[in-house]
Amino acid sequence: MKQNYQILENVITAQGNLVSLCGIASDIAQTLVIGVVHGDEYQGEKLIYKYIDEFDKAGVLFIPCLNPDGRDLNTRTNSNGVDINRNFPTKNWELTEKDNYYGGSEPASEIETKFLVKIIDKYKPKAIITLHTPYKIVNFDGPAKDLAEMISEIIKYPVEPSIGYPTPGSFGTYAGVERNIPTITLEMDEEETIENLYQPIKTIFNSL
Ligand SMILES: [Zn+2]
Repeated sequence: MKQNYQILENVITAQGNLVSLCGIASDIAQTLVIGVVHGDEYQGEKLIYKYIDEFDKAGVLFIPCLNPDGRDLNTRTNSNGVDINRNFPTKNWELTEKDNYYGGSEPASEIETKFLVKIIDKYKPKAIITLHTPYKIVNFDGPAKDLAEMISEIIKYPVEPSIGYPTPGSFGTYAGVERNIPTITLEMDEEETIENLYQPIKTIFNSL
Protein backbone atom coordinates (compact mmCIF):
# COMPACT_ATOMS: atom_id res chain seq x y z
CA MET A 1 0.00 0.00 0.00
CA LYS A 2 1.08 3.56 -0.66
CA GLN A 3 2.04 5.38 2.50
CA ASN A 4 -1.00 7.63 2.81
CA TYR A 5 -3.37 4.68 3.07
CA GLN A 6 -4.32 3.36 6.47
CA ILE A 7 -6.25 0.39 7.74
CA LEU A 8 -9.28 2.26 9.09
CA GLU A 9 -11.32 -0.70 10.35
CA ASN A 10 -11.02 -4.46 10.49
CA VAL A 11 -12.74 -7.57 11.76
CA ILE A 12 -11.73 -11.21 12.23
CA THR A 13 -13.79 -13.86 10.43
CA ALA A 14 -14.93 -17.31 11.62
CA GLN A 15 -11.74 -18.84 10.18
CA GLY A 16 -9.46 -16.19 11.72
CA ASN A 17 -8.93 -14.11 8.57
CA LEU A 18 -8.82 -10.34 8.64
CA VAL A 19 -11.29 -8.20 6.66
CA SER A 20 -10.01 -4.63 6.37
CA LEU A 21 -11.23 -1.24 5.28
CA CYS A 22 -8.30 0.73 3.81
CA GLY A 23 -8.17 4.32 2.71
CA ILE A 24 -7.42 7.87 3.68
CA ALA A 25 -9.64 9.16 6.48
CA SER A 26 -11.73 12.17 5.50
CA ASP A 27 -14.76 14.17 6.65
CA ILE A 28 -16.01 14.24 3.07
CA ALA A 29 -18.17 11.32 1.88
CA GLN A 30 -16.11 8.86 -0.16
CA THR A 31 -16.86 6.08 -2.64
CA LEU A 32 -16.54 2.57 -1.23
CA VAL A 33 -15.11 -0.22 -3.41
CA ILE A 34 -15.53 -3.85 -2.31
CA GLY A 35 -13.84 -6.98 -3.65
CA VAL A 36 -14.54 -10.72 -3.18
CA VAL A 37 -18.11 -10.73 -1.86
CA HIS A 38 -18.17 -14.20 -3.40
CA GLY A 39 -15.13 -16.26 -2.42
CA ASP A 40 -14.71 -17.83 -5.85
CA GLU A 41 -14.50 -14.41 -7.55
CA TYR A 42 -10.91 -13.59 -6.59
CA GLN A 43 -10.25 -10.84 -9.14
CA GLY A 44 -11.48 -7.88 -7.08
CA GLU A 45 -8.87 -8.30 -4.36
CA LYS A 46 -6.00 -8.54 -6.86
CA LEU A 47 -7.22 -5.45 -8.71
CA ILE A 48 -7.67 -3.38 -5.55
CA TYR A 49 -4.23 -4.25 -4.19
CA LYS A 50 -2.66 -3.51 -7.56
CA TYR A 51 -4.35 -0.13 -7.53
CA ILE A 52 -3.51 0.88 -3.96
CA ASP A 53 0.09 -0.15 -4.53
CA GLU A 54 0.25 2.26 -7.44
CA PHE A 55 -1.93 5.22 -6.47
CA ASP A 56 -2.55 7.42 -3.45
CA LYS A 57 -6.17 8.15 -4.28
CA ALA A 58 -8.18 10.28 -1.87
CA GLY A 59 -11.94 9.95 -2.00
CA VAL A 60 -12.10 6.15 -2.28
CA LEU A 61 -12.25 3.57 0.51
CA PHE A 62 -11.47 -0.07 -0.21
CA ILE A 63 -12.44 -3.41 1.29
CA PRO A 64 -10.11 -5.57 -0.84
CA CYS A 65 -11.63 -8.89 0.27
CA LEU A 66 -14.94 -9.08 2.14
CA ASN A 67 -15.01 -12.90 2.14
CA PRO A 68 -11.50 -14.28 2.81
CA ASP A 69 -12.87 -17.55 4.27
CA GLY A 70 -14.71 -18.25 1.01
CA ARG A 71 -11.65 -17.17 -0.96
CA ASP A 72 -9.49 -19.71 0.89
CA LEU A 73 -12.10 -22.44 0.26
CA ASN A 74 -12.77 -21.23 -3.32
CA THR A 75 -16.52 -21.17 -2.60
CA ARG A 76 -19.16 -18.57 -3.39
CA THR A 77 -20.30 -18.65 0.25
CA ASN A 78 -18.33 -18.03 3.44
CA SER A 79 -17.21 -20.96 5.62
CA ASN A 80 -20.70 -21.13 7.20
CA GLY A 81 -22.16 -21.79 3.75
CA VAL A 82 -23.82 -18.36 3.60
CA ASP A 83 -23.97 -16.23 0.44
CA ILE A 84 -23.04 -12.80 1.88
CA ASN A 85 -24.93 -11.21 -1.01
CA ARG A 86 -28.20 -12.74 0.29
CA ASN A 87 -27.57 -12.05 3.99
CA PHE A 88 -28.29 -8.31 4.18
CA PRO A 89 -31.16 -7.12 6.43
CA THR A 90 -33.51 -6.05 3.64
CA LYS A 91 -37.30 -6.09 3.59
CA ASN A 92 -37.21 -8.99 1.12
CA TRP A 93 -34.69 -11.18 3.01
CA GLU A 94 -35.95 -14.75 3.22
CA LEU A 95 -34.99 -18.08 4.74
CA THR A 96 -33.98 -20.27 1.80
CA GLU A 97 -32.59 -23.71 1.08
CA LYS A 98 -28.98 -24.35 2.07
CA ASP A 99 -27.56 -24.10 -1.41
CA ASN A 100 -24.99 -21.74 -2.95
CA TYR A 101 -27.42 -18.84 -2.46
CA TYR A 102 -28.28 -19.58 1.18
CA GLY A 103 -29.12 -16.28 2.90
CA GLY A 104 -28.20 -17.42 6.42
CA SER A 105 -30.29 -18.36 9.47
CA GLU A 106 -31.35 -14.72 9.93
CA PRO A 107 -30.62 -11.35 8.29
CA ALA A 108 -27.05 -10.14 8.97
CA SER A 109 -26.17 -13.39 10.75
CA GLU A 110 -22.63 -13.24 9.34
CA ILE A 111 -19.56 -11.35 10.58
CA GLU A 112 -18.82 -10.09 7.05
CA THR A 113 -22.36 -8.71 6.62
CA LYS A 114 -22.33 -6.99 10.04
CA PHE A 115 -18.94 -5.45 9.22
CA LEU A 116 -20.19 -3.95 5.96
CA VAL A 117 -23.42 -2.69 7.58
CA LYS A 118 -21.27 -0.96 10.23
CA ILE A 119 -18.96 0.60 7.63
CA ILE A 120 -21.92 2.03 5.72
CA ASP A 121 -23.49 3.47 8.89
CA LYS A 122 -20.21 5.01 10.01
CA TYR A 123 -18.66 6.23 6.73
CA LYS A 124 -21.87 7.04 4.79
CA PRO A 125 -20.31 6.45 1.37
CA LYS A 126 -21.55 8.62 -1.49
CA ALA A 127 -21.47 5.61 -3.84
CA ILE A 128 -20.51 1.94 -3.65
CA ILE A 129 -18.99 -0.41 -6.23
CA THR A 130 -18.79 -4.17 -5.65
CA LEU A 131 -16.51 -6.20 -7.93
CA HIS A 132 -17.87 -9.54 -9.15
CA THR A 133 -17.52 -11.93 -12.10
CA PRO A 134 -18.52 -13.33 -14.64
CA TYR A 135 -21.44 -11.64 -16.44
CA LYS A 136 -19.70 -8.69 -18.19
CA ILE A 137 -22.38 -6.18 -17.18
CA VAL A 138 -22.65 -3.02 -15.11
CA ASN A 139 -25.64 -3.64 -12.84
CA PHE A 140 -26.93 -0.87 -10.59
CA ASP A 141 -29.35 -0.23 -7.74
CA GLY A 142 -30.54 3.11 -6.41
CA PRO A 143 -29.66 6.43 -8.08
CA ALA A 144 -26.59 5.09 -9.90
CA LYS A 145 -27.51 5.39 -13.58
CA ASP A 146 -24.93 8.11 -14.34
CA LEU A 147 -22.15 6.27 -12.51
CA ALA A 148 -23.13 3.03 -14.28
CA GLU A 149 -22.95 4.78 -17.66
CA MET A 150 -19.55 6.26 -16.86
CA ILE A 151 -18.21 2.82 -15.89
CA SER A 152 -19.84 1.17 -18.92
CA GLU A 153 -18.16 3.69 -21.23
CA ILE A 154 -14.74 2.77 -19.81
CA ILE A 155 -15.02 -1.01 -19.47
CA LYS A 156 -17.31 -1.58 -22.52
CA TYR A 157 -19.85 -3.78 -20.75
CA PRO A 158 -23.56 -2.88 -21.10
CA VAL A 159 -25.54 -1.25 -18.29
CA GLU A 160 -28.20 -3.60 -16.91
CA PRO A 161 -30.61 -2.20 -14.29
CA SER A 162 -31.55 -5.75 -13.20
CA ILE A 163 -29.50 -8.94 -13.12
CA GLY A 164 -32.49 -10.97 -14.36
CA TYR A 165 -33.32 -13.12 -11.32
CA PRO A 166 -34.59 -12.32 -7.79
CA THR A 167 -31.90 -11.51 -5.24
CA PRO A 168 -33.53 -11.34 -1.74
CA GLY A 169 -31.21 -9.95 0.93
CA SER A 170 -28.76 -8.67 -1.67
CA PHE A 171 -26.34 -5.87 -1.02
CA GLY A 172 -27.75 -3.89 -3.97
CA THR A 173 -31.20 -3.95 -2.40
CA TYR A 174 -29.82 -3.06 1.04
CA ALA A 175 -27.62 -0.14 -0.03
CA GLY A 176 -29.11 0.99 -3.34
CA VAL A 177 -32.86 0.36 -3.17
CA GLU A 178 -33.49 0.76 0.58
CA ARG A 179 -30.86 3.38 1.49
CA ASN A 180 -30.72 5.28 -1.79
CA ILE A 181 -26.92 5.05 -2.05
CA PRO A 182 -25.80 4.78 -5.70
CA THR A 183 -24.67 1.13 -5.83
CA ILE A 184 -22.91 -0.61 -8.71
CA THR A 185 -22.44 -4.36 -9.10
CA LEU A 186 -19.67 -4.58 -11.65
CA GLU A 187 -19.62 -8.07 -13.17
CA MET A 188 -16.25 -8.52 -14.87
CA ASP A 189 -15.06 -11.04 -17.45
CA GLU A 190 -13.60 -14.06 -15.60
CA GLU A 191 -11.73 -15.17 -18.74
CA GLU A 192 -9.69 -11.97 -18.77
CA THR A 193 -6.28 -11.71 -17.06
CA ILE A 194 -5.79 -9.42 -14.06
CA GLU A 195 -3.36 -7.37 -16.17
CA ASN A 196 -6.02 -6.77 -18.85
CA LEU A 197 -8.82 -6.11 -16.35
CA TYR A 198 -6.61 -3.65 -14.50
CA GLN A 199 -6.47 -1.20 -17.41
CA PRO A 200 -10.18 -0.20 -17.36
CA ILE A 201 -10.41 -0.71 -13.57
CA LYS A 202 -7.56 1.74 -12.99
CA THR A 203 -9.31 4.32 -15.18
CA ILE A 204 -12.59 3.76 -13.33
CA PHE A 205 -11.01 4.14 -9.87
CA ASN A 206 -9.13 7.24 -11.00
CA SER A 207 -12.45 8.74 -12.16
CA LEU A 208 -14.15 8.33 -8.77
ZN1 LIG B 1 -20.53 -12.49 -7.35
